[in-house]
Amino acid sequence: MSKNKGISDSELPGDDGPALHMDTEIVTSGRRIDQYNGFVNPPVYQGSTVLYPTVEALKARDLPYTYGRRGTPTTEALETALTRLERGAGTVLVPSGLAAIATALQTVLKAGDHLLVTDSCYQPTRNFCDGWLARFGVETEYYDPCIGAGIADLFRPNTKGLFLESPGSQTFEMQDVPAMAAAARTAGVATILDNTWATALYFRPIEHGIDISVQAGTKYVGGHSDIMLGADTANEDWWPRLRKTWELSGSCAGPDVVYLAQRGLRTLSVRLERHMRSGIEVARWLEGRPEVARVLHPALESHPGHRLWKRDYSGASGLFSVAMKQGSDKALSAFLDQLQLFGLGFSWGGYESLAVPFDPRPYRTATDWREEGPGIRFHIGLEDTRDLIADLEAGLARWREAGGGT
Ligand SMILES: *Cc1c(COP(=O)(O)O)cnc(C)c1O
Repeated sequence: MSKNKGISDSELPGDDGPALHMDTEIVTSGRRIDQYNGFVNPPVYQGSTVLYPTVEALKARDLPYTYGRRGTPTTEALETALTRLERGAGTVLVPSGLAAIATALQTVLKAGDHLLVTDSCYQPTRNFCDGWLARFGVETEYYDPCIGAGIADLFRPNTKGLFLESPGSQTFEMQDVPAMAAAARTAGVATILDNTWATALYFRPIEHGIDISVQAGTKYVGGHSDIMLGADTANEDWWPRLRKTWELSGSCAGPDVVYLAQRGLRTLSVRLERHMRSGIEVARWLEGRPEVARVLHPALESHPGHRLWKRDYSGASGLFSVAMKQGSDKALSAFLDQLQLFGLGFSWGGYESLAVPFDPRPYRTATDWREEGPGIRFHIGLEDTRDLIADLEAGLARWREAGGGT
């Protein structure tokens, strides 16, 4: 919808003109100060009904906004900004990242279709495919995330969708996005990529051949662990169908959340830069520890996908995992339970550090997790890394005392 509105005289540069540098666009895109009486940020429009002046206008739906569910100046501000940053044709906002995944899949699939999904996807993506799409006659097949251009061998005549997530949830496999997107395009298969880890700041899926880019705004865009929001941005080909699916489903995001997300967006660049720097520092420190078998962070040279990350991504966020040496549940709890600065909890992307143990073996079907010890995913927040490392060092001492391996 962002593209369909007229551009006002005082619109800031960046929405339709030549590309500016990303840090500038993060600050300027989507803002229309003439409409806000000069205030810097868009107002929060709380609205369902839009009043029309005449029956004729009502019949023609002849107003810039027609009904709260279909968009307000508040939602338009964020949609326009994300469309610009993703280099897409349009964006829809939905109530969660998972809803964005569902909306993207519903856009490209119908009964009788075959869908390929990376085995490394966010687990609720898998639940949606197996628990919901299956009921409507879509068959999902999971593939090895590192398959690259070999994905073409899995295409069937009825393959209509290819879902990627790079790096993978919890295990951080890097995917060869351009090669896979090119193979899919040749075969007429639509591609969707969950870009929550990198955000449009560090990776732009549409520029790498992807049709629909998915973002859980809950994470880094929001940035403060206080909202649930999802966004889908499509290229020119898929935008009309994405917009239509979104309209049919009634899955609209609330105004306060959208406001907070556009507010978070303005500082995304400075936050992510710090998450990246601190994340790499803590990851490197962990890599040197005898209790840790392997660090799964694409920005480390030791990562099998490091070459792809360097080729395609302009940065890394603060989320990565480690595989520990062999250790019991008791050792794992001794390590994590008494951490002072790392909260134990799901989600991530806020300003604070988090740790969560994981085990992909019960649900992965196309690949094996062959690490000897437990997996732990860390989110490195904006705290001072000296304090974070001291906290982890004390935790690793507890791990050893509880019999954890070195
Ligand atoms: C958290 C997450 C989601 C889902 O976002 P919600 O807003 O929590 O529904 C989707 N994809 C990835 C990679 C995530 O980490």
